[in-house]
Amino acid sequence: MSAARHITIVGGGFSGVSAAVQLVRHSPLPLAITIVEPRKRVGPGLAFATHDPDHRLNGPTWAHAIDPVDGDHFKRWCTQHGVFEADPQAVRPNGIAFVRRAVLGAYLEDMVHRHARWAATGSTIHTLQDRAVDAWQQDGVVTTVTERGERLVSDLLVVATGNAEPKLQAPLDPALARHAAVIENPLNTVRLLGIPRTARVLIVGSGLTSLDVIATLQRQGHTGGITVVSRRGLRPRAQPLAQGTVEHPTGRQNLDRLLSDPPAFLVQAQPTLRAWVKAVRARIREGAARGENWNLPFDELRDSVWQLWPTLPAAEQGRFLRRLRTWYDVHRFRSPPQTEAICREALEAGRVVHLAARLRSLVPTADTRRIEAVLQPSGQDHTRTEAFDAVVNCTGLDAASRTAANPLLQALVDQGTLRPDACGIGYAVDAQCRVIGADGRRQAAIRLIGPPTLGTFGDPGGAMFIAAQIHRILPDVFNVLGHVESDGVKVSQAASLSAA
Ligand SMILES: Cc1cc2nc3c(=O)[nH]c(=O)nc-3n(C[C@H](O)[C@H](O)[C@H](O)COP(=O)(O)OP(=O)(O)OC[C@H]3O[C@@H](n4cnc5c(N)ncnc54)[C@H](O)[C@@H]3O)c2cc1C
Repeated sequence: MSAARHITIVGGGFSGVSAAVQLVRHSPLPLAITIVEPRKRVGPGLAFATHDPDHRLNGPTWAHAIDPVDGDHFKRWCTQHGVFEADPQAVRPNGIAFVRRAVLGAYLEDMVHRHARWAATGSTIHTLQDRAVDAWQQDGVVTTVTERGERLVSDLLVVATGNAEPKLQAPLDPALARHAAVIENPLNTVRLLGIPRTARVLIVGSGLTSLDVIATLQRQGHTGGITVVSRRGLRPRAQPLAQGTVEHPTGRQNLDRLLSDPPAFLVQAQPTLRAWVKAVRARIREGAARGENWNLPFDELRDSVWQLWPTLPAAEQGRFLRRLRTWYDVHRFRSPPQTEAICREALEAGRVVHLAARLRSLVPTADTRRIEAVLQPSGQDHTRTEAFDAVVNCTGLDAASRTAANPLLQALVDQGTLRPDACGIGYAVDAQCRVIGADGRRQAAIRLIGPPTLGTFGDPGGAMFIAAQIHRILPDVFNVLGHVESDGVKVSQAASLSAA
């Protein structure tokens, strides 16, 4: 048996853990993997660390399998761990389950332990509680340096740093984050639970996180009004998979769908936004005439975005981000049925109001206890000022907007190893997720996966797309690792993917 190839994975959220597990399960070579993650637990990452019982996954169990060749894996794990008995509300009448996000966090953590020693190849996964602050490639190896001064020398570096923690965005003053009435990070449920029941609350941003905040506050018996402000006043669509009879993909059916060619109705259209929107709308109308739901054609678009988006000219990508992204996102990121029911009830009872307006400023009141919001309703010239007892920031974040907050990404950008993508929302990679530097050079030994590749692939945000992205690059990764010098012997081993 040849010597183990060393792999450093930076980030222990879904992306980093799915990468580690897929690498171990499918590698023909022994691997020694180290996951560097500053959090105590490796697995939950930023997205699945919540313990709030009303924060649920926005898709079914089959959309959250760690290894997409076994799409039933997470569901089986839930069954074995009594998840459905403990939370009967998770399973809808049509059999589709929307479990709590904390359950996925526990599953991912368990997967790291279960794959820590893989007998078939002798591969191992170690974890290191630390933060990567620098990395460089020299003489065929990548050195990764951590905050505590560890130096990890490896044959491959996988950067899986995920989403940046939510921060107040311009025009809001960053100093407001220190104000007692302002919650900059809505994922901090301890702060949410500290909001008094009678408080008038302003939620800035109307995506799925705003629904989580509403669900938490409603469970606490919140009686103060909640205003949700966003530029267009749109809210996420309800998850259609929760209704009617739905086919459950089994085994690797879901992966095969994600890897198949884009549908003919989109390929035949010109690679312009206008043509795609027209084609999707026509398809939705045709489907509606047969009694089909809007999500079927939309999902065909969503599932092939990773292939279609790179064919869009940069100017068209920019237009999408400016004009269509909000529309796309409310259809793409759907509220799970349990959250939807809580929020709908609060909306209908008038405890929650959605306001289409631009938030011009937030200023503490003279007594410093409250916050005054200056709001400009959409399509109007005038502004109005309202005082709130609590403000919760639920604005989304693009990875590249916070490069400076992540020392590893900043170091890679400063060296010219990594550069922002053409639309500026993530970083440039090629089809194999090799990072592309300022001079256009690709680094086969440094791969970037998950949300930071959003600008290159259009939509690798959700777990099933990230798992599929990792699956796609495995043959190339194994090929590169197979050519690594091992104990002075040049190994040339063609990659082969074995079924799990
Ligand atoms: C609140 C929220 C809810 C979501 N819900 C869903 C859902 O229900 N279903 C779904 O499919 N998708 C969901 N998503 C989308 C989500 O982006 C992906 O599903 C996936 O979790 C992303 O995983 P990740 O590991 O790339 O990112 P993250 O979860 O952000 O994890 C990245 C990890 O990298 C670590 N890290 C960052 N920098 C460094 C460094 N320099 N050194 C070491 N470690 C570092 C961080 O500490 C973090 O733990 C959600 C996202 C969010 C933010």
